[in-house]
Amino acid sequence: MDAQLETTAEVQAAIRCIYCQQLNPLNCMTSVPVIPRYLGGAFAPSSYQLTRACRRCQAELTRRVDACFERAWSVSEALAQAAGRLAARHPHIHPPLRCLGRIALPIPGMRAEEIAEYWQGPEGEQLVLIRAADDATQRCAGPGPHADNRAYCFLEDRPGFQSGLATLRDGFRHAPPRKVLGGLAGLHSPHARGFCPPTATDRQALAYLHATLGRGDAPECQPYPHAPCETAFMSKLALGTGVALFGEKLLRTAHGQRLSHALWSGSDPTATLLTARPPVHQGHGRPSPFIGDSGAVSILIKPGKCLSLTLCINQALLWTIELASGKDLTAEDHLKIGHGRILNLFEPLRMGHEASLPEYLRRRIDNAR
Ligand SMILES: [Zn+2]
Repeated sequence: MDAQLETTAEVQAAIRCIYCQQLNPLNCMTSVPVIPRYLGGAFAPSSYQLTRACRRCQAELTRRVDACFERAWSVSEALAQAAGRLAARHPHIHPPLRCLGRIALPIPGMRAEEIAEYWQGPEGEQLVLIRAADDATQRCAGPGPHADNRAYCFLEDRPGFQSGLATLRDGFRHAPPRKVLGGLAGLHSPHARGFCPPTATDRQALAYLHATLGRGDAPECQPYPHAPCETAFMSKLALGTGVALFGEKLLRTAHGQRLSHALWSGSDPTATLLTARPPVHQGHGRPSPFIGDSGAVSILIKPGKCLSLTLCINQALLWTIELASGKDLTAEDHLKIGHGRILNLFEPLRMGHEASLPEYLRRRIDNAR
């Protein structure tokens, strides 16, 4: 009887994960922002917060989809440019490091199952990240959850190096590798600045990299492609946003099923979900500057025959995906979206704000006058 009661209680406590759509006990679920942290998701309003992902999906999709998108050349470049625009107006912001791609160097201590990436900062900072290269992370190019991931950081001893130190310290804030500082003789207490003391192997690696990178030029890099996982990433974003705004019924619609398939397979057999992807040519070859704020990651939800979600980074890089068919939504859902909603996120400033599209456009037009 007791066992039966326990089973009933467990079933009652089970919650469906929106990504794998399996029922999971409450303690296997986790609360995550619909929008990844590196895009500023932690600063979105509570209506974009999600509590229905199982830990397994959260770990796998973070690594395979979110990190893949973040590290794609065009995305990391656009995010760096966005942070650069904000840094011009807010001196306390340190523009992020940019990944130039993989490097093939015989770095001491590097194992056969590892790969190395070369990163640069705006003040001439250099960083070599060594990370595990299993099949999934090879595609996603993320720091990943491996404890052995390490980053060798270099900075020239010249005016302005404090700002560069902060950039190196803050790099990979959301999945930090072990960071070791080299090439800055005489710096006191690097440990207090977030760097680990080097092991004997680290010292050999630092000496090798210092001799190799010290010549000034970037090593030969094999860049990551544009955004190989854009379909999976946009499907995940649309699925999460749709369920956060309209509830689980979205998973049972034809759009929900197609988004779920595209999330896991990385492709959309109908080739109709993603209706815009970079490069987008409008006007002078850029998206309209009214799609989001300068320096922002903007998410626009717009009604039409289908409800669409547009992601725009720094008014430059733009993707649009279909989220739901108009007939899948209730009158209450339509009321919630009105003539459209726009969310502007500023991760480096740790802020975000949402507005109705008409209200937002009115403000932008007023400011332009
Ligand atoms: Zn799941």
